[in-house]
Amino acid sequence: MKAKKSPGLSPQINPKYCNFRLQVRPSKIHRWGVFALEHIPKGRKVMEYTGKLVSRKEGKRRSESAQIHCLFTIDPYWYIDGAEGGSGAEFVNHCCDPNIESRIVHRHVLYFTLRDIAEGEELSLDYHFGKNQERVECGCGSPKCRGTINLLE
Ligand SMILES: [Zn+2]
Repeated sequence: MKAKKSPGLSPQINPKYCNFRLQVRPSKIHRWGVFALEHIPKGRKVMEYTGKLVSRKEGKRRSESAQIHCLFTIDPYWYIDGAEGGSGAEFVNHCCDPNIESRIVHRHVLYFTLRDIAEGEELSLDYHFGKNQERVECGCGSPKCRGTINLLE
């Protein structure tokens, strides 16, 4: 997963792709974040990460040329670019102790809760940047923070 964000994106949720009431708001972690407007039980599908399906080559081109990066790696050949037709899931921040996880089902990226989420809580995902990718520092604030969004091993 690769998702560098820019304030140029319109910070909105498309409810069509959400199973619970969510909202984009300013986040303490990084710029914008996605917040629960209601209690969400553990193990439930919260939302889908949507966007344009692009090839690895096109994804590489976009990540080098665009100001806005919301590329979700779905397999060795395809990315979903949330900058085009994103559901709002592209605003979910990284946290080293996340409360949601992604599951890829037939080229759809679905976000599921790892535990109960309280009303008003921010959704967070471990981006799992590769250890060989450009190192990005983490400011998630979790006691379990590993200091970087990249995986250490
Ligand atoms: Zn962290």
